[in-house]
Amino acid sequence: MTIDVVGVTKRFKTFAALDNVSLTIRTGELVALLGPSGSGKTTLLRIIAGLEWPDSGEVRFDGEDALARSVRERNVGFVFQHYALFRHMNVFENVAFGLRVRRGAGKLPEAAIREKVNELLSLVQIDWLAERYPAQLSGGQRQRVALARALAISPKVLLLDEPFGALDAKVRKELRRWLRHLHEELPVTSVLVTHDQEEALELADRVVVMGHGKIEQVGSPGEVYDNPATAFVHDFIGETIALPGEVKGGALYLGGRPLGLDPQGVADGPARILARPHDVDLADPSSTAISGKVLSVRTFGPTRRADVELSGSTGPVIVEAAVPHGQDLAPGTQVGLKPRRYKVFAA
Ligand code: ATP
Repeated sequence: MTIDVVGVTKRFKTFAALDNVSLTIRTGELVALLGPSGSGKTTLLRIIAGLEWPDSGEVRFDGEDALARSVRERNVGFVFQHYALFRHMNVFENVAFGLRVRRGAGKLPEAAIREKVNELLSLVQIDWLAERYPAQLSGGQRQRVALARALAISPKVLLLDEPFGALDAKVRKELRRWLRHLHEELPVTSVLVTHDQEEALELADRVVVMGHGKIEQVGSPGEVYDNPATAFVHDFIGETIALPGEVKGGALYLGGRPLGLDPQGVADGPARILARPHDVDLADPSSTAISGKVLSVRTFGPTRRADVELSGSTGPVIVEAAVPHGQDLAPGTQVGLKPRRYKVFAA
C-alpha cells in the first residue's frame, strides 16, 4: 500500500500542528516519523489512521482518497505506547478480538480464527503465553500481544506510535531488532512515530524528521545523519558541535578571523558552522583560527573526547573533539581544532 499525504494542514484553534505536510510512503517501507515532542508526529499518524481529519489536504491509499473512509474501512493496524489490551481477556482472546467482531462476508469460522491466532502468536513468539492475562505479562510481552492483535486483521498499513516508549532500554533494543525482522516478513507498509533518534535510525528504511508541524527532511538513516538538510536536523540527530560564524564577502569567519573553510553557498551574514565531534580533529593552535583551552578529557568506551573552551571573541563556547589514542592532554593545554566535515547554515 502506497500512502500519499498531500499538502495536509491541521490546526487546533489557531495553532498549526501540521503545516502543509506532503509525504509519500512506498509500499512495504518502514518509515519513522522522528521529531521532538509537539512536532506533529502523532497528529500525522492519526490522520493517516482516520482518527483525525485534516483541515485541508489529501491522504491517498494506493491513489484512492482515504479521507472518505472511516478507520475501519482503511484496514490499518495500530500499536500504541500504552498497550490498550483488554484486561479481562487472555492473550489468545485479545489477539482474536479483531477477527471475532467481524461481520458479514469477512467473518471467519471458529476453526479458522483459532488457526490464524495461533499463527500470529508464534509469529510474535509468544504462543506459550496464550492463556495468560495482560496483568501476568511483562511490558515487552504485552507489546508483542498488541502487535499480534494489530496484525490479526491482515492490515496493509501498520501504524506504531512510540510502541516501545514505556519499556526499559534493554527490552526496547531487543524488540526493535525483532520488529525490523518481522517487518521484512510481512507484506505491510509501516509508519512508526518516535522521538528516539537511535530507534528511528536503526529501524527505518527512511526517516522523516519533523519540527514545528513541518517536514525538515526525508531520507535514509545515513542521509539524515551524514547530510542533514537543515540546522534543525543536524542538531536533532546525532551529536553536534556548533560554532557561531559569519560569512563576509563570500568567506567564513569565526570571531573576526578567517577560517579558510567553505561557506557552502551561505549568503553574507551570521552563520552556524555545525559538525559531529568525531569529524573535528585536534591540531596545532597556530595552524587554525579555531583554538582554545582544554577543560577536561572524557572517555566514552573506546573513544575519548576533549571539552575545549574556545578563545577569542566568540564568547564562552565549549566544543567537543575526538582525542586520538595515545595523546595526553592535560587540562589547560592550548589546542587548535580542524573540522574535517562540517555544514554551514545561515543563522
Ligand atoms: P509527542 O512526541 O509529545 O507525542 P508529537 O510530535 O506527536 O509529540 P502531536 O501529538 O502531533 O506531537 O502534537 C502536535 C501539537 O498539536 C502539539 O503542540 C499538541 O499540543 C497539539 N495538539 C495535538 N492534539 C491536540 C488536540 N486534540 N487539541 C489541541 N491541541 C492538540
